[in-house]
Amino acid sequence: MAEGKKSWHGIPRDEVPWFPAVDRETCIGCQLCYVTCGRGVFEMNEGVAVAVAPMECAVGCTTCGNICPTSAISFPPLDAVWRLERERQIFRTVKKEAVQRHEREDMQKARQAAQQFVQQVSTRAAVEIAGEFGDKQFLLKLEQLIENRPFDIVKLVLEVPTVKGARQKAPSWMRFEVTSEQQEDVNPMLADIRALVHEVGLILVSEQRL
Ligand code: SF4
Ligand code: SF4
Repeated sequence: MAEGKKSWHGIPRDEVPWFPAVDRETCIGCQLCYVTCGRGVFEMNEGVAVAVAPMECAVGCTTCGNICPTSAISFPPLDAVWRLERERQIFRTVKKEAVQRHEREDMQKARQAAQQFVQQVSTRAAVEIAGEFGDKQFLLKLEQLIENRPFDIVKLVLEVPTVKGARQKAPSWMRFEVTSEQQEDVNPMLADIRALVHEVGLILVSEQRL
């Protein structure tokens, strides 16, 4: 088969007897076939449809024939195609094509899953905590959490009602952001912060992926 020549499951396309034929007498020039066929098979000429690229027709497709309001489009009998399928043993080729198609679809699904995962990954998050910080050494423990890990705590704000109040264990409020230094997902770090907050008896007010 010449390189670049179109084929149908291994058979040169021009050897497959499947193409539309327009009856010029019956065609009323409505152009429905012309605008419907996605393969550019038809052109309009002097008010009637002409199949200018018949071998571009998808083997087995009869869409234009089905919708033609005057039944002006006909196709060869399908028996000739069925006979060709048997004689040229196309199913070995079809099987290989099916394997390739499954592989393509699997790759596409894997790519979509990877893209979805990347979209779900957060590299920055804001955390708000409230409660009696008092002598819980929360900041020290927070620092220990990020030690030797690719995360950092930034924009930390601590609001205490008064310094004396803080000493007297009045409730305070803290906000900070967790960032990743190398585009890692901050979720594992957030899970550790949640556990720490729970452990020291503070309250996690909010946690927001940025
Ligand atoms: S759909 Fe039928 S009638 Fe309309 S242009 Fe095509 S062949 Fe002619
Ligand atoms: S049968 Fe389908 S592919 Fe073939 S010419 Fe008609 S619309 Fe186009």
